Amino acid sequence: MITVGILGEVDTMGDGRWVEVGPGVLARRYEGLDLTVGLVIGEGACLVVDTRGDERQGAEFAAAVREVTPHPWTVVLTHAHYDHAHGLAAFLPCEAWAHPGCRAAMASDGRQALPQLLVTDTAELNVGGRAVLLRHFGPAHTDHDLVVHVPDCDVVFAGDLLEHAPGGSFTTESFGPDTSLGTWHGAVERILALDPAVVVPGHGEPAGPEFAGLCRDQLIALAALRREIEAGKLALEEAQARSPLPADVTLAALA
Ligand SMILES: [Zn+2]
Repeated sequence: MITVGILGEVDTMGDGRWVEVGPGVLARRYEGLDLTVGLVIGEGACLVVDTRGDERQGAEFAAAVREVTPHPWTVVLTHAHYDHAHGLAAFLPCEAWAHPGCRAAMASDGRQALPQLLVTDTAELNVGGRAVLLRHFGPAHTDHDLVVHVPDCDVVFAGDLLEHAPGGSFTTESFGPDTSLGTWHGAVERILALDPAVVVPGHGEPAGPEFAGLCRDQLIALAALRREIEAGKLALEEAQARSPLPADVTLAALA
């Protein structure tokens, strides 16, 4: 566990738990789905990273933010999956950022509350005097993942580009129909190129850069196994035996 500074770990309400990952940079952990969301606090402004899974959960998270800062918030969504994005309504009205593909996926999902500020590659926000960068590193967990880089303390909120299941990394839930297995590892490589001290996954505990390196290596291995399967050189069972991940996770990734 990486815990820095004044706040340490503070229990508030429900099953939520704050973890300080840098000065004024917090992750909030939930038992449900092992979800991790975030908060960056500046002078007179703050940035909320993801919103939880529905309006009730979003309201809980908004109230928890209000317990630690009175500052007005901006929201960024790492991607459109419900567990990260569907609490947005509880934070509105406010500025809300996302990749255009995130907004499109939410709109086609029938969502009424949508992010209105769009970033296709890089956006630099001023969060109460702190520079915070929103970056899209290409198709990975979805075709529209954003990572949130706080360079003054080398923290990267990775969304679901990284997942940190207890004692492991990716799960069967990490890989969906909108996943691009062949390029995902390149997006993680770009996270590593930011030289982060702490990476905050979309699910699971914050970790150091070596964990991101492990995830990258696993994704490279999975992509290579799938290429061999597609070339007719490898049976699925053989791929599962050679995979660095459990058989069920490998099956989900290679499906
Ligand atoms: Zn997701």
